[in-house]
Amino acid sequence: MNRFSKWFWDKSIRFKIISVYLISLTFIGSLGYLYYVYSDIKATNQEIESYRSQVIKDRRQMVINMVNAAIDGISNYYKDYKNGTITEDISKHKAVDFVNSIRYNIGESSGDYNYIWINRKDGLMVLDPPKPELNGKNVLDFKDKNGVYLFRDMIRIANLKGSGFVHYCWPKLNEPKDICFPKTSYVRYFYPWKWVVGSGFYMDDIDKEIKNYISKKRKKLINTVLLSILFGAIASLLSSIMFYFIVYTITEQLKKIGSLSKRLANEDISPKLKLPYSFNDETGYLVKNFNIFIDENYKLDLFKKTIEEDRDLDSVYKRIGWFLKNEFGFKEFSIYEVNNSKNALRQIVSSGSRSFCKQDILVDSSLCRAVRTGKDVDSFKEKNVCLSFTRSSDREHICIPLITGYGVVFVLQILFDKQEKGRDIEIQINRVKRFLREATPVIETKRLLGQLEESTMRDPMTGLYNRRFLDEFATTFSSTVKRRNTNAGILMCDIDFFKQVNDVYGHNAGDEVLKGVVGSIKKMIRESDIAVRFGGEEFVILLQDVDENLVTEIAERIRHDVEISEFTVAGNIIKKTISIGISIFPKDSDNLWKCIKYSDVAMYKAKTTGRNKVVRFEQSMWKDEEY
Ligand code: GH3
Ligand code: MG
Ligand code: MG
Repeated sequence: MNRFSKWFWDKSIRFKIISVYLISLTFIGSLGYLYYVYSDIKATNQEIESYRSQVIKDRRQMVINMVNAAIDGISNYYKDYKNGTITEDISKHKAVDFVNSIRYNIGESSGDYNYIWINRKDGLMVLDPPKPELNGKNVLDFKDKNGVYLFRDMIRIANLKGSGFVHYCWPKLNEPKDICFPKTSYVRYFYPWKWVVGSGFYMDDIDKEIKNYISKKRKKLINTVLLSILFGAIASLLSSIMFYFIVYTITEQLKKIGSLSKRLANEDISPKLKLPYSFNDETGYLVKNFNIFIDENYKLDLFKKTIEEDRDLDSVYKRIGWFLKNEFGFKEFSIYEVNNSKNALRQIVSSGSRSFCKQDILVDSSLCRAVRTGKDVDSFKEKNVCLSFTRSSDREHICIPLITGYGVVFVLQILFDKQEKGRDIEIQINRVKRFLREATPVIETKRLLGQLEESTMRDPMTGLYNRRFLDEFATTFSSTVKRRNTNAGILMCDIDFFKQVNDVYGHNAGDEVLKGVVGSIKKMIRESDIAVRFGGEEFVILLQDVDENLVTEIAERIRHDVEISEFTVAGNIIKKTISIGISIFPKDSDNLWKCIKYSDVAMYKAKTTGRNKVVRFEQSMWKDEEY
């Protein structure tokens, strides 16, 4: 690429298009125009040429007709004489008078009239209308300026062929007598009287007429050329303006998109960046799609920011559900969370109240094809692909697993009508996946954080919640119980003479017994109840939504279960008992911590009154100074 072409291609599109346009307009336009003018001139010349020969032909025909008419007249008088109506002299006389009376005009430019003359075969002039002085004279030796014996020529041709044309030079009526003009004449022989009858026309008259014709034609040609130049100029101007405007709109939009792309690199994406467009042409199409791009990415951005700020995973899942419904317009869908450690699924979000899958998948996640394979499950592509799907008769389904560092974290299931179009669905699914991709790192982080939080809230040895959890949970718990207007039971448990186990069997044995007792506690309470390792071998249990009698009953069951349990540690069978103090929140006090203290007081009472028993707190046990 040489320097010029590099220079040219580096110029703006507007410059390139307009300059190429102008150059081609000038070159091709003027070439085409010149050709047009050239062919017009050629046509005009041809027209002039054919006009000339037509005029000559017409003139010749005209003089032939006039001479024929004269001969017809002469013949009539001759017939009269032959019939015997008149004498020959009279008939000749009448014929000459008749021919003398014939005057005619020929052509527009000839100022003179034309006439017909008669001369005899022997050279005697019978009739010369413009020059009567020649009548009766012998003109056989008459020559024109060029030395042509014109009358001899006439007589020769008339004698030889009966009729024909002769060319010579002859003065004009209104011109000086000594100037002669080229003339063409037609002569015809009238045998009976040996007359040569003739009439002619001047060639320069024709030339004049043709000149007139040419100048008229030229004028017309010039007018046409001038008009075409004018129209051509107006058309080029208009088309140039139009052309410039079109190029302008294209390049302006391109420029805008260009500068916007730059802004995109530096600014947060937002609908403010969207561009206006005036026409639905290709530039409009480009801008429209660009705006869609901005909208879509803005939504994605917003979506990601929103779920990042969501409190926990469940809120994130719920928001995904909201998006599926409101942004994508899906009517039937479910989200299942995978609990990898338990090998189970939990249905978190659903458009309907019930699941579209067999309930078995909830307890065995491997029955969910998307979880098992980690791949999209698409019944459009493969009929009845998943046997756990219960709606195959009237719905198609696509299940998308979301995979993070933990493996499949959740499965998104979307249902479609059987007749829905594959292409549209593919586009929608791809869009959903973009949203899910945005969500993946957020879900991963939230899950990790959740686990981290869980680990700091639990006691690793027993798996129970720890003191820290109770500290954080106390407020939530007390307000929930109060709002529901129910009672909660608070159990304070302490293993009796636990120190002995350590002393006799060692600390490890102590740990094992501790775990065994916790096993009894877990067995006796519900999932919704909360057991906390409060101290070394002290546990607080919060029982939700229970009445007072049931609290005592559950405490009693725990006590009994510990009492009958035998813990085998290193070949030794160890039996232990437990003391439990009970208080009721908010019945005993609307301060949860005070209630916990009350249960501790009751437990202390159990210890001091023989251990291995359950004691319900009573206000009488409480002495202010003890708090
Ligand atoms: P009682 O409660 O019936 O008055 O007698 P006790 O022997 O159980 O007395 P106390 O509750 O005061 O003793 C608690 C003992 O529990 C002290 C400590 O050595 C032991 N202990 C606390 N936590 C652990 C633990 O995690 N593992 C083991 N092995 N022992 C623990
Ligand atoms: Mg103890
Ligand atoms: Mg203790």
